[in-house]
Amino acid sequence: MNLADLSASSQPSPTTPQCSAKGCRADAVWVLAWNNPKLHTPDRRKTWLACDEHREHLSQFLGVRGFLKDVVTLSEWESHPDNDGA
Ligand SMILES: [Zn+2]
Repeated sequence: MNLADLSASSQPSPTTPQCSAKGCRADAVWVLAWNNPKLHTPDRRKTWLACDEHREHLSQFLGVRGFLKDVVTLSEWESHPDNDGA
């Protein structure tokens, strides 16, 4: 399950992951790794994607809830094969 699924409709799947911010179609540059301790085991990581413009907004959204664990570039994230990318 991925938040990117929510934006899928009539458009073909983009080859470049897109920002998870509502209404934003920009290419994602950042990966925000987060974990909700009420829902997820401690080593589980959910991910949001963000463009440069929305990285701070989405980080704050997760940060104030204490969910945010890590913010890395998309290329850096994809270089870690043990991440939950599915
Ligand atoms: Zn964006």
